[in-house]
Amino acid sequence: MPGKDVDLVVIGAGLSGCALVAALNNRGWRGTIQLLEAGRGPGGRCATRRRRDDLLWRLDHGSPVLSFHAEPCGELRRLMTSLEQRGVVRVDLDPVVGLDHHGEVVAPPDHPLLRGPRWRGIPTMASVAETLLRNGGDAVDTCFGERIQGLSRVDESWVFPGGLRSARLVLSGTLLAHPRSLAMLGWSDVPLREAVPAGHDSVLDEALDWIAGLNASIRWNLMLEFPAVDPAPLPRQIWLTPRAQEQSGVERLVLQRQQQGHLGLVMHGLDDGALITPESQPQLLNVQEQRLLTVLPDLLKPWPTLQRQLSSVHSLGVMRWGAAQPLEAGLPNALQWCRQTQVGFCGDWIEGPGFGMAEGALQSGLDLAELIAA
Ligand SMILES: Cc1cc2nc3c(=O)[nH]c(=O)nc-3n(C[C@H](O)[C@H](O)[C@H](O)COP(=O)(O)OP(=O)(O)OC[C@H]3O[C@@H](n4cnc5c(N)ncnc54)[C@H](O)[C@@H]3O)c2cc1C
Repeated sequence: MPGKDVDLVVIGAGLSGCALVAALNNRGWRGTIQLLEAGRGPGGRCATRRRRDDLLWRLDHGSPVLSFHAEPCGELRRLMTSLEQRGVVRVDLDPVVGLDHHGEVVAPPDHPLLRGPRWRGIPTMASVAETLLRNGGDAVDTCFGERIQGLSRVDESWVFPGGLRSARLVLSGTLLAHPRSLAMLGWSDVPLREAVPAGHDSVLDEALDWIAGLNASIRWNLMLEFPAVDPAPLPRQIWLTPRAQEQSGVERLVLQRQQQGHLGLVMHGLDDGALITPESQPQLLNVQEQRLLTVLPDLLKPWPTLQRQLSSVHSLGVMRWGAAQPLEAGLPNALQWCRQTQVGFCGDWIEGPGFGMAEGALQSGLDLAELIAA
């Protein structure tokens, strides 16, 4: 981590963090920004998996699209139009089908992620966050592969190992603010609470209480390579009906054609509630991989071209995705920026009705930029 003083540290380069830095730049905010991200590049849950052994391989292993509950308007509309005009997104018209518990192809189930308009990142989902980050301008410095484990506040500044100091801090995920992280990462206390004791900033106290009420949702996504699939049309997303999901523990299959006739398939596996700790995680990843591979043949019955290839399918491993499960109502706007301690929040868990989807993530970044710039 660089040793320097900046005006704002943003933790997380997902859609919300990247939308925030782009919107600050658009608003003419000229402070210096350090963005810290645990992953290898921008994108977060809208990231794209690449491979060292196949440089042309691109697999959107988290979200395959940007979903909206309705046509965006205002600043969000302007953002989407500008991404569209630059060819970074296009309206997603790729086929989506449903699959029921008898293995029959049916209409897609009613789901918030499918109800409104959708866009797809071009050429990949990661392109969206990458472009937003570039729009943040020269004032943004990035540091990838750095998971922040703790937070500390000294003399009215946020202080990080290596000598990085900042007047302001934004968390774009709930990892450092939610008790769910404690067992999962083996921490003793919520890092944000450790940095700012209760009673010091009443707005932050309220925000932390609200965040503690969020549920966590986990997905186990198995990434597969099909070696040579003929060019006959295939759906882009296969959504299981609620009964089929219950039966198989799978939410959907997402298909993505690759160069040279290869096909990437991501199985979005549902969680079974097993306790995730630093010790249990490697074993859980193996268990989930075996479980998903076992149910795959049945799910592919309606697509014989894929079924025939099952013996030569290559597993690229399982990715565990964690997210805060949104509540009925969003984080009240007054709690998104805690003025006294200069800490704020963005992320898809904040803004309804685009909760838990790209819409909410982007909107929260735009709204927080307004609060900070003010
Ligand atoms: C499997 C899956 C399928 C999905 N399908 C859809 C869909 O069909 N349509 C749709 O619209 N949305 C979908 N979503 C949701 C969508 O991906 C999210 O709403 C959106 O990407 C959230 O962006 P964000 O910036 O709020 O959070 P994130 O993308 O999670 O970004 C937060 C970033 O912060 C980083 N970070 C967190 N804590 C730390 C730390 N301590 N140190 C350093 N870095 C840290 C993380 O690494 C991450 O990159 C899906 C998500 C998943 C997981």
